[in-house]
Amino acid sequence: MDARKPRLLTGDRPTGPLHLGHLVGTLQSRVKLQDSHECFIIVADLHSLTTRSRRDEIARLPNHVRDVVLDMLSVGVDPSRSTIYLQSGVPAVYDIAILLQMLTPVARLSGLQSIQDMAVNAGLGDADVPLGLLGYPVLQAADILMANAELVPVGADNETHVTLARDIAEHFNDAYGKVFAVPQPTVSATPSLPGVNTVAGGAERKMSKSAGNAIWLKDSPEEVARKVRTLPGPAPGESTGAPLFLFAEAFLRDADELASLRAEYDRGGIGFAAVQDRVIEALEKILVPIRERRAEFAADKHRTEEIIVDGTITARKVAYETLGKVRDAMGLENL
Ligand code: ATP
Ligand code: MG
Repeated sequence: MDARKPRLLTGDRPTGPLHLGHLVGTLQSRVKLQDSHECFIIVADLHSLTTRSRRDEIARLPNHVRDVVLDMLSVGVDPSRSTIYLQSGVPAVYDIAILLQMLTPVARLSGLQSIQDMAVNAGLGDADVPLGLLGYPVLQAADILMANAELVPVGADNETHVTLARDIAEHFNDAYGKVFAVPQPTVSATPSLPGVNTVAGGAERKMSKSAGNAIWLKDSPEEVARKVRTLPGPAPGESTGAPLFLFAEAFLRDADELASLRAEYDRGGIGFAAVQDRVIEALEKILVPIRERRAEFAADKHRTEEIIVDGTITARKVAYETLGKVRDAMGLENL
């Protein structure tokens, strides 16, 4: 009997530190699933280049990689159970991605809302979208399929990408024989936490590292409070779907308390400042231990590098093995 645990792949672009959207979107699932699954967690630096390829942006990558790893450790991802690796350190994935490109119609990519949103966040007009950004989901498919991941925890904006990876896997398996596990996306109860209102339209868009509308896991209590206070109060009776209440739903742990807060607000018994207060309080309860652990891990300057190097060595082995199977299946082994 195969005692191997099912594999899971998830991860982030090192375009900045991680935020509350990551926490409720995928980080909490990573921590929860690390016993039942063999977890591969990608720090997707090549994916960062799709919207940030200037020299000065590349120069900031090492700091962002360190931030992302520290954020993961601070919420409880355990590197002895999860393989945390750097995407660009696994070149076999580029080879797999090139081969998967041959199976992917361009029309499938150009219609994706997620790519259009990323282009907007990066300030790119239609004519400036690079091929690398258009091909983002194919490279992501290569990441997922190289690991033979069966489960892929993602936020809502990435769900279509995993569906594409699924389709590519099925197409490949049908055409050349079964090589890939067919991945399944999974989204959390908060698949798209809105941003705060520090920029125009911030609270209408999902919280993103690149949109200037994020509450960072490493923000100070003062910063967290200041940002939560930018979330507008909906009209009484219209709390459902309002960003402030989406925050309350995501971070208040007691369902009864949440229900009574909402009911009181909707009948005009309390104002939005009281709801903001409650959200700030709930967030602090969650963020205090995260900040403490982050400071502990950050004290060891080399720890994040060691983790990434170890994880990347493991990922390389797995990727080369998969590349070999892909080439064999396609009849490319003698080329
Ligand atoms: P960027 O602006 O650079 O694209 P991002 O904030 O969108 O950054 P990513 O690194 O692209 O973060 O996403 C990492 C993972 O977190 C993905 O699975 C994504 O779907 C999920 N995620 C990102 N933002 C949110 C959010 N606001 N709510 C829930 N999940 C999210
Ligand atoms: Mg993103």
